[in-house]
Amino acid sequence: MAAMASSEPAPRAELTDYETVRHWFAIAADRLGIRDDVAAVLRTPYREVRVQVPVKLADGRIHVFSGYRVQHNGARGPYKGGIRFHPSVDLDEVRALAELMTWKTAIVGIPYGGAKGGVDVDPSRLSPRELQTVSRSFLNKVEKVLGPTRDIPAPDVGTNAQVMAWLMDEYGKHHGHTPACVTGKPIALEGSYGREAATGRGVVFMFREAAPLVDLIPAETSFAVQGFGNVGSWAARLMQQLGARMVAASDASGAIHHEAGIDAERLAAHVAEGATLAELPGVEPIPPEDLLGVECDVLIPAALGGMINADNADRVRCKLVVEGANSPTTPAADRILGDKGVFVVPDVMANAGGVVVSYFEWVQNLQHFRWDEREVNDRLGRIMRKAFREVHARSHSTGTALREAAFELGIERVLEAAILRGYIE
Ligand code: NAD
Repeated sequence: MAAMASSEPAPRAELTDYETVRHWFAIAADRLGIRDDVAAVLRTPYREVRVQVPVKLADGRIHVFSGYRVQHNGARGPYKGGIRFHPSVDLDEVRALAELMTWKTAIVGIPYGGAKGGVDVDPSRLSPRELQTVSRSFLNKVEKVLGPTRDIPAPDVGTNAQVMAWLMDEYGKHHGHTPACVTGKPIALEGSYGREAATGRGVVFMFREAAPLVDLIPAETSFAVQGFGNVGSWAARLMQQLGARMVAASDASGAIHHEAGIDAERLAAHVAEGATLAELPGVEPIPPEDLLGVECDVLIPAALGGMINADNADRVRCKLVVEGANSPTTPAADRILGDKGVFVVPDVMANAGGVVVSYFEWVQNLQHFRWDEREVNDRLGRIMRKAFREVHARSHSTGTALREAAFELGIERVLEAAILRGYIE
């Protein structure tokens, strides 16, 4: 007789993205000696908005998606964070990402709080017109809690400069032309030079800081990229400019390997034409799960959360992980990497380049003035290097990993702002 299905949920060995952020917060708050009641204020989101996004698609039917905007903490400035379009989006995931933004903006020292949004839609299944309808419909539902002095969205997985242009246009229908209401816009619509590449560029600044600590010379470094999208492909192209060699890459379509090196520029152009990674001539397709096990100096996870976990972390064979994605490494995997001696530059600082240049875009929009790309990149480099050095100095003096030190620094700065404002006594 077949066993009856149990109504008990199967025990989960791993934490969700939200539990992962909670885990790192709890460790840092404990080390900082923050009282329980104060910790509760710091970890609880200020506002969570869940909206219905009904959209009539080309099939003639109304599809009802769920949209979210979570504003986690605004003690240090307006809420700031991307908007994700992906079928897995739910409140738990958006909450986790919003909280990460709070600590991230504090770690790099830019005057923002943390937020995140999303819609549980698969943009790859939508026509451009349908994508535009979803974007405008979502904006209309959340517009009241947004604005250049309240909450400023940006791109994330599944959204891009075109989506930001639609959001800005829709916001303008309610409030008049307001370019500073959203960042990551196209250059032709008051976007900032350097924004599209900024997160990947920030990852590479972090690599350059970490490299000497693990005896790596950029021009002699091999690397692999998991998630060859915006962040991953820009990180790869800029690593290549330093002379580093990409030996493997993956995206949702599959993974490829080539020991002699895969030209990141060529691969980016190939993907932009709509081709799959495996269709690039001269590379060997590999099973996606093998990417993490490819021998290389640096691994750049730049896809989704939880992709390095207890089941596969043991296979990682690199010296250095620079986390382009948010929460790519579960706490269990982090322990395994630590035991193996892998040096990890954590998401909460490593992928802050995007929000830093979003900050520059907002500043430029508020002043109706544009900086050239060199100025943007130079300023980004200064901020990323300073963040790395501050976090590294703290980790050195406290004997903790960079992730713990980064969370401590971020939480401390938010707590200070909250006390100064009188939110917490
Ligand atoms: P994107 O949509 O441009 O790229 C994501 C890539 O991951 C795509 O190539 C996709 O095919 C790939 N992918 C999806 N599932 C995969 C799987 N199972 N295995 C391998 N690859 C897979 O998104 P993005 O903006 O580059 O964001 C990537 C990550 O970086 C996310 O975690 C995001 O939150 C984080 N991030 C992005 C920014 C930004 O400015 N865009 C800033 C900070 C952090």
